[in-house]
Amino acid sequence: MGFLKWVLAFSTLCTFLATPILSDSLLNKQQLANISANFLNSAKSPDLFDWMVKIRRTIHENPELGFEEFETSKIIRNELDKMRISYKYPVAVTGVVGFIGTGKPPFVALRADMDALPIQEEVEWEHKSKIPGKMHSCGHDAHVAMLLGAAKILQEQRDDLQGTILLVFQPAEEGGGGAKKMLESGILDNVDAIFGLHISAIHPIGTVTASSGPIMASSGFFEAVIKGKGGHAAIPQHTIDPILAASNIIVSLQQLVSREADPLDSQVVTVAKFKGGGAFNVIPDSVTIGGTFRALSKEGFSQLKQRIAEVITRQAAVQRCNATVDFDTKNRPFYPVTVNNKALHEHFQNVAGQMLGIDKIIENKPTMDAEDFSFFAEAFPGYFYLLGMVDETKGVFVLGHSPFYRVNEDALPYGVALHASLVTTYLLEHQLKSATRDQSVHDEL
Ligand SMILES: [Zn+2]
Ligand SMILES: [Zn+2]
Repeated sequence: MGFLKWVLAFSTLCTFLATPILSDSLLNKQQLANISANFLNSAKSPDLFDWMVKIRRTIHENPELGFEEFETSKIIRNELDKMRISYKYPVAVTGVVGFIGTGKPPFVALRADMDALPIQEEVEWEHKSKIPGKMHSCGHDAHVAMLLGAAKILQEQRDDLQGTILLVFQPAEEGGGGAKKMLESGILDNVDAIFGLHISAIHPIGTVTASSGPIMASSGFFEAVIKGKGGHAAIPQHTIDPILAASNIIVSLQQLVSREADPLDSQVVTVAKFKGGGAFNVIPDSVTIGGTFRALSKEGFSQLKQRIAEVITRQAAVQRCNATVDFDTKNRPFYPVTVNNKALHEHFQNVAGQMLGIDKIIENKPTMDAEDFSFFAEAFPGYFYLLGMVDETKGVFVLGHSPFYRVNEDALPYGVALHASLVTTYLLEHQLKSATRDQSVHDEL
């Protein structure tokens, strides 16, 4: 009998005999502590750790960009095959969804992203990227390894699970909207809740960072071509200068946040691209500008989008230019605001608090970066948190998307144990709630 069965038998008894210690949980502190301690022990076992590290390093050496994660996906499927975990493939080109448990509701999901970035690795180490110009510099290799680690320890408890755990390995988080494609496949239609994590180069190892409500911004990109009439730089009266028009457009765009947005609704508009002209004495025919816009509310985001298009086209007209604006949503879908579900936040605090200590849960301030986990969290209750990995004795850890990015592999067991504990206790709680409901119905008869 697995340890879950013992916990469950004990818990069911407690539900009817005692008041749970945690008001929003049917499992009491001791039971939660037992489950998380058991999973953390399993996750820290040298065999599991070494196996995970090996997988992570193999993936790190062979990074693949969004929707091209064929080899990464193959590694995942090979490991799932060895564990005798059934799965669906392909989902959204390279995605894999594994299943552990009864195959029946409730369905609770864990998510890992698989893609790398178009960056040349500058870290000199034994397992440096073998693919020129591509690198896992956001830690998604570690995310895959942790979800496989969780799969392994959850599979050992499969007979005691009352419900189904979905292992969601998704492609193309870095701008491609892989999560959106996974949802469109329909395979996640019945999911009741989903948890995801991102390894963090800011927070200490053994800590997690989380909060309820909006945690990351809605995000979109735009590109505009401003057309004028090129000519001699010394005879401007015979030209229509798109450089001047583009410059005025950029200044006007900066006023959207400062003058039109509610100061309490955080927004960003950044023009990060400006291409026009190639000579000192030639006014070009056209200029291309591009950038990103962000907001922490749906309303703020849609207003920004509308006003960016208006400002670009109308400000161009002031300087006699024509402008077209492309949001390129086909290749870069708008990401929604990432919103953490309140009930799942309480669940997370109970579980992580018992495993790591309540003082190891750091309150998260919303940021203006974006995560395509937001698509999942928009479709059903979702919860996303950061897993600290910083250990100053192991050198400096830089933020993701840097050629000098490193992962502290010592953090992997924490991610594994949190993954496993969050979904297992979610299913147990659900089971206990059903049992309580049945009991109360019975009492009334
Ligand atoms: Zn990233
Ligand atoms: Zn990332």
